Amino acid sequence: MLGSVLPFSEETADRVSQYCEQNSTAIPDSLGEHWKATQSTFSDADKMSSRLQGSWMIFTAQDRKPKRVLEIGCYSGYSAIAWYEGTKETQAEIVTLELSPKMIAAARQAFKTYGVEDRVKLIEGPADQTLKSLEGEFDLIFVDANKDGYAAYVQTILDQKLLSSHGVILCDNVFARGLSVGADCAPWLNDHVRPYWGGCGKVLDVFNSSIIKDPRVDVLLMPVFDGITHIKWKNSGSRD
Ligand code: SAM
Repeated sequence: MLGSVLPFSEETADRVSQYCEQNSTAIPDSLGEHWKATQSTFSDADKMSSRLQGSWMIFTAQDRKPKRVLEIGCYSGYSAIAWYEGTKETQAEIVTLELSPKMIAAARQAFKTYGVEDRVKLIEGPADQTLKSLEGEFDLIFVDANKDGYAAYVQTILDQKLLSSHGVILCDNVFARGLSVGADCAPWLNDHVRPYWGGCGKVLDVFNSSIIKDPRVDVLLMPVFDGITHIKWKNSGSRD
């Protein structure tokens, strides 16, 4: 029987990524320029989502039509601009949270350059504190910051009912490059990043196996990109 993940080699996986990008609606040129500029400016630009992920974000937002989007982990603003692009119809407010002064400055500059300041609001500071001060509901919540914070972020989102009745939480990188699944699952990973992702794998494995036990929600972990967990209220639409 065909499994849920095809057994691609490292080289084939790169070709598959390119194939998917070539056969998907491309991100707008302006977003592509920002992606390239981030790549050439920051040595840790692998934190930024890929171009294909940008296409996925725009497609997902156009499809779900959120009125409000919350993002935890802004980095250089690439994903916030993708959410902006995908919500031109709904004119959604995009709230994005970031801790690093360097990335706050970079994202603010990008939001100005790309003319998205009318709907993108960047809140500075540690996300756990910021989350507690947020009011209202969000229809799409993207969790993409420090991996050891995911469990607490999702807990706060659910406890404070920051997720709307038909909304979805999307948690990025829950595979931790494969290391949530097992320490031997990423033989291709560079040694200099292995300790970091090993630590992420441990905390994300705890998160993955705990969130599924929360009786309030339905959970779907999809083997796309670096693993994306979808979380929605159980029986969406009839939350009391
Ligand atoms: N969403 C971005 C994208 O798709 O291009 C990438 C986000 S990057 C993976 C994670 C970001 O979360 C970093 O910029 C980091 O500074 C930020 N971050 C880490 N810990 C945080 C915290 N406690 N509160 C807020 N932001 C945090």
